This record gives sequence, C-alpha cells and structure tokens, in this order.
Amino acid sequence: MFRREFVKDFFYSLVLFLFRPLKTLKAQTKYKHFLKIVLADGKKTDLTALMAGKAYYLNLDDFANLGNYGIFTNNTRKKSVLKIGEIKLKFTADNPFVVVNDQIIQILNQPVWNEGSVWVPVREFCQVVNDFTELHLEYLPNVPQIRFGAKSTNVLSVSIEQKANGTLIALNTTKPFPAGKINTRLVNGWLYLELIGGKGNAKTFTKKLKDPVVAEMRAVQFARLLSIGFRLKKIPHDYEAIYNPDLSQVLLTLRFKEIAQNDTQEEQPADNVNDELENQKSAWMIDTIVIDPGHGGKDPGALGYYHLKEKDIVLKIALKLGEYLKKRLPDVKILFTRKTDVFIPLWQRTQFANQNNGKLFVSIHCNSNPRHSVNGFETYFLSADKNAKASKTVLLENKSIEFETSEDKKRYQGINFVLATMAQNAFIKYSQYLATIVQRSLRNRLRSEGMKDRGVKQGPFYVMVNATMPNVLVETGFISNKHEARLLRSKSTQAKVALGICDGIIKFKKDFESAL
Ligand SMILES: [Zn+2]
Repeated sequence: MFRREFVKDFFYSLVLFLFRPLKTLKAQTKYKHFLKIVLADGKKTDLTALMAGKAYYLNLDDFANLGNYGIFTNNTRKKSVLKIGEIKLKFTADNPFVVVNDQIIQILNQPVWNEGSVWVPVREFCQVVNDFTELHLEYLPNVPQIRFGAKSTNVLSVSIEQKANGTLIALNTTKPFPAGKINTRLVNGWLYLELIGGKGNAKTFTKKLKDPVVAEMRAVQFARLLSIGFRLKKIPHDYEAIYNPDLSQVLLTLRFKEIAQNDTQEEQPADNVNDELENQKSAWMIDTIVIDPGHGGKDPGALGYYHLKEKDIVLKIALKLGEYLKKRLPDVKILFTRKTDVFIPLWQRTQFANQNNGKLFVSIHCNSNPRHSVNGFETYFLSADKNAKASKTVLLENKSIEFETSEDKKRYQGINFVLATMAQNAFIKYSQYLATIVQRSLRNRLRSEGMKDRGVKQGPFYVMVNATMPNVLVETGFISNKHEARLLRSKSTQAKVALGICDGIIKFKKDFESAL
C-alpha cells in the first residue's frame, strides 16, 4: 500500500519534473539576457533579449505590448509592422531595410526571426524610433537599458496643400519663429527654409512626395538652425514665409501665375491606407537603371598601356552590363548616359538620370596612377568628406570638368556643391550598401583574374552630386598597370567586370524590394 502510493507519487513527481522544470530551464538557457525598461512614468520592467555578436535584440511583439502600440506580423514573409502614433515601421527579418511610412531607411544590423516574432537590434531600433516617431528612447547598452524620455524638438510636422492661388506649406511648431528667425532662398530649383533656433527630426522632413508642386523635401539639423529644402517641380513667381501665432505654424506660401488644372487632378486621394502603401511601393520599385560610361568625346579619361583610353574601355563594359541587365531583368528599363563616343558634362549625367526617374545610377570608370605597380578595382559612393577630397582618384575623375564650358564649371563651385551634396544625404546609406554589394560581386567574378580588391571607398565626385537615387562609381582597374591594362582590354575580362556589377545590382534590387 505504502509502496504503491509511493510509486504513484514518485511517478507523479517525475512527470512534473520532466515537464515543468524543463520548460523553464529551456527558456532560461535561451533568454540569458534581459533588457531593463524604464517607462516615461518611471515604472520599470524587463524584456527578454537575444544577443548576437555584441548587439542586443528585442522582440517587437514585447515592445508593442509595453505601450499598446499596434503590431501586425506576417509569419510567411517574416515581417512586422509596428505602429507608433501615425508612424508605421516595417521590419523584415534578414533584411537591412526598414520601411517608415513613405520612406525606406537602412540599418546596420539586420532584424532576425525567432519563435514567431521579428527581433530587432536594440541600438538601431531606438535610432529609428527617435528619428521618426513621437517617442524618445535612450539606450544604455552597458546595462542594457532603454529609458523612455521626452522629445526636445520644436518643429514637429509638415503639411502641404494646394490652394486656388498657390501652394501652402505649413510647419507645426511648439515655439514662435518671429520674422528675424526665418530665412528663405531659392537655389537651383530648391527652396530652402531656415528656422533659427529650430529643432526637428531631419528625417521627418526628408521624403519624396506625390505632390504637383513639391517633388521632395530634405532637411538638415545644424547647431543653430533647422534647414528644410523643398525641390520644386515649378518655380513660383513669388514666395514668403511667416509665423502665425494663432495656429503655432510657420506658413510658407508659394504663388504661381496660374495653376494648370491637369496637375492638381493627377493626385487622386488614396481610398485607404493600403492603397497609399501600395502607391508608395510602386514609387520605390527599381524599375529604371541608369548606366553611365565615364568620359567620352574630347575627354578621353585615363590613358594607359597599349594606347588604351578609359572612355573606350568603360563604354564596352557599360554596353555589356546593359546587355546582361536586360537579359536578367527584362522588366526594368535600362538607360545609358551615352552609347557612343560623345562628350557629356558631368552635371548633365545625373540630371538625365533624375529626369528619367532613374532608381539606380552606376558610373563606370578605369583608374590610373603614376606608380605603375598600383592595381585593383574599387567602388565609390559619394561623400563630402574633406579627407577624401585630395584622393588621387577623386582629383582624376573630377578633372573631366576641364573639358566643360565656364558656365558648366560654375555648377560645381562653392555653395552649389555643398547644397547639392547635402541634398544627397538621404541616399548615401543606400549608396554605401549598393557599393558594398557591387564590390563583393566584382570580387567574386574577378578572383580568377587575380585582380586586387581595393574595397569600398567614398569621395566627393562631381558626377554623383545631385543624383536623387542610390548611386555608385566603379573603378574597374588601373590601365596604368600593365597586367590590368591587358586584362581590361580583353573581351573576357570586360564581360566579367560587367557580370560582377550586374550581380551586385540584382542583389541590391532584391534586398531593397523585398523590404517593401
Ligand atoms: Zn574616369
């Protein structure tokens, strides 16, 4: 009797032991890490965290629960949309792109998929939330802890409306901006509004628009002022900015002599949020790629062994690249800045890409160096970095403007260059990613040729300034190096270079579009 009870008890305990403790044990080994949370009201709680490398990851579902934020997860596509206020943040596992309402941004570490949830790297997540939403999260990675705080911005949001006699741009502020604190100026089709003492999330005011007058906005936060640029589709005959204390708004009014009826009818209001998202999606799809063979005509580019001229080699590679792209991406429009031996000023190349709604811009070049031993291929993205200004490659490529008229040359000088480079900020991260992928693909294709991988670099190239799309410049090798000159002159190496760039473009397109 005793024995039977004992055995029964024993088995009962065994069953308990086998199931309950094991479950907790499993959870504990899996979630060794916890993230301390301090909410705005001072309440504290912990969230489980994953750790990979030195980065902590948090579960988006858990985060949504903290503030009752809306969350929608698509298990098949491993995506989650988190809604904070009016802002929707779409994260995709194993994808570096985050869709924020009508914008796409890139983060360093990719989200991961684990147990039916998207987990996001905490540092990048807080950055995105701070840049775009009403929340302010302070991340202390050493604890690790997230502290909810208050925003310190005084310029909050923008709206653009078409009126009978013009366009009204309204900025909601929490601080007055009297006459002396507001500046405006119109430069090269951009209308700049400067609010002295203004603080805002530059990213809130940096976006492409579906508006008949304003094509896009770009903002930069300086120490003393917030500068917001509006790229206009047509130039107003008159404009002014005033602060309206009753509305607590800065009102920027653009007046046109007449407003074409067709322009305003073009903009059909979206039926619902989904339609809107779908519209934005199609605006982002990479449906047009612009290939830019460097130099041409009176500008031969670099000169190398075997009487090679850069302009001839890069044209051959570019045409080959076009062929491959057309074959592998039959639905994508492939455009060339030149298909023959003609001279085109640098500024016209990106203008061509912008006017044709190019979604990627790839400029192809060969390098040269007085030291003939220097060799290898490298991929550049634009940066205004002063250190890179003196780089031999930058100087060499920018020399093309010596063939341009003095009128053309003015476009690259002083303030124009700074403003144009600033305006590019929105694309630099994508360009950097594109450069990384193109360089990696080139390495794979050129390994068999024994060509040296010189890596991804950045520099202030005139040919890339003003491009309103991700853009890179590929230096395919040194024709001042005998070995590489021989390779680059051969059809087979030209084809491999073209294939490398083609692989990179396709991979970038796939990653970029799968985040949409
Ligand atoms: Zn060149």
